[in-house]
Amino acid sequence: MKYKRNIYIALTILTILFGCTSTTKKSDSEVDRIQLMILPEYMALDMSQSGYTEILDNAKKDGILNTDILQVERVREISYNLINQTYIFRDDAQDWNWEINVIESELINAFCMPGGKIVVYSGLINKLDTTDDELAAVIGHEIAHALREHGRERMSSALVQQVGILGFAIFLSNQDGSFLSKQAILQGVALGTTLFFALPNSREQEREADDMGLELTALAGYNPMAAVSLWRKMDAQSDSQPPEFLSTHPSNENRIEDLQIEAKKYEKLYKENKKN
Ligand SMILES: [Zn+2]
Repeated sequence: MKYKRNIYIALTILTILFGCTSTTKKSDSEVDRIQLMILPEYMALDMSQSGYTEILDNAKKDGILNTDILQVERVREISYNLINQTYIFRDDAQDWNWEINVIESELINAFCMPGGKIVVYSGLINKLDTTDDELAAVIGHEIAHALREHGRERMSSALVQQVGILGFAIFLSNQDGSFLSKQAILQGVALGTTLFFALPNSREQEREADDMGLELTALAGYNPMAAVSLWRKMDAQSDSQPPEFLSTHPSNENRIEDLQIEAKKYEKLYKENKKN
């Protein structure tokens, strides 16, 4: 009986969540797609926090966490300049518990997990001799993913695919602190972190992150055209797997073209906000 009631409650919650609107406010970048968000935000944030802590712990153990203090300071300054502009997309993001760290690695990559957990790999800076504007382009793009909650969106659709709506409803309905539900949460956390990294963003999500990222960088006084120069630098590095920033787009040339057109849109905004 209680079981049935729980399912009913969970399904009601799901129905409400199904009607979820866009996670961000519409701005010049005109991103306002309605998103399917079945996984509750607090769960996505829990998963993100534990996954991020694990990544940092492992890096610390290997002696590759924040080894170059000047580099860390540079990455954090650029990140906070961008974070200070997030209000155009959402009212709550500036109050997130942002964390920004640099991991020493050959990887040309960076990511921002749900709730503002950023990692930049030193390869992105050292191998590409990245300028501040270019670094802002990557970090702005990654922050935009987090603002749009693309990770939660991906985890939501993957969970539904794996366990079905009903399975997920039962999963949600068991959140009463019992041993079983704690176990389920732990499994969910492990699954969530895996899903976050295993599933690539969709092309639509990438396009949104590109557009919002450009607006964010221009607002923060960084040249949005740097996204294009960064792309060309990355393009020249054919040896490695494409980093997140490059992923899921079959044609680099198309994306560069799109970025160029979009970046032009923010030229005025950039000039208004440019420092010195
Ligand atoms: Zn991306």
